Amino acid sequence: MSHFLYPSKHWKAGDSCGDDSSSAGGDGKYEVLSVANKLISEEIRSLMARTEVKGHQTDTLMAGSLAKALCYIHRISKEIEVGQDVKSRILVIKAAEDCALQYMNFMNVIFAAQKQNVLIDACVLDSDSGLLQQACDITGGLYLKIPQRLALTQYLMWVFLPDVDQRSQLVLPPPVHVDYRAACFCHRTLIEIGYVCSVCLSIFCNFSPICTTCETAFKIPLPQMVKAKKKKLKPAT
Ligand SMILES: [Zn+2]
Ligand SMILES: [Zn+2]
Repeated sequence: MSHFLYPSKHWKAGDSCGDDSSSAGGDGKYEVLSVANKLISEEIRSLMARTEVKGHQTDTLMAGSLAKALCYIHRISKEIEVGQDVKSRILVIKAAEDCALQYMNFMNVIFAAQKQNVLIDACVLDSDSGLLQQACDITGGLYLKIPQRLALTQYLMWVFLPDVDQRSQLVLPPPVHVDYRAACFCHRTLIEIGYVCSVCLSIFCNFSPICTTCETAFKIPLPQMVKAKKKKLKPAT
């Protein structure tokens, strides 16, 4: 399930005119930001209450949420007045494992983002993500696996907050070596040479006559050809 935290469904323009006194409290915080903070934490709370966690599954619907984000950006860019320009990019903060099952959807979303000129940045908290490395490389975004989790806020502010134009003037962490090896769909291991389904482009490390992703059955002409050759050879000997 992917869910919009902000702007949420309950939010309407004009809501920021403080309905409660706490948001406009004397802490000097910009009012709109404190409303956003409140809404986001409320949404996260209700989302966590509704979500069932099964076992040790940490897969996330990343392809789905990226697609939603792209749709949102597209809608906003249609809604604004002519002549105005929206600068948009997507920042993925990721703590989960890559999910090879989403590989196809994920890559499709990445190419859609590239076409729309939407950058994808990735801030990775746990193990490196080959999928996100490719996403950032393709869309011109920034990929960073943060060395210290304690410093997350600092990385977000110094590395990810500046936009593309400002970034050229900053000394940022060096770009990572992108691992363009693809993970096979059967074992999720990275392979250099494999079998590719000609219909859905799924990748396998072993040959299988039926593609497990799109269920296309492949006719294998090879064994028959070998037999036919043998038959032809026999009369000659
Ligand atoms: Zn495999
Ligand atoms: Zn297939």
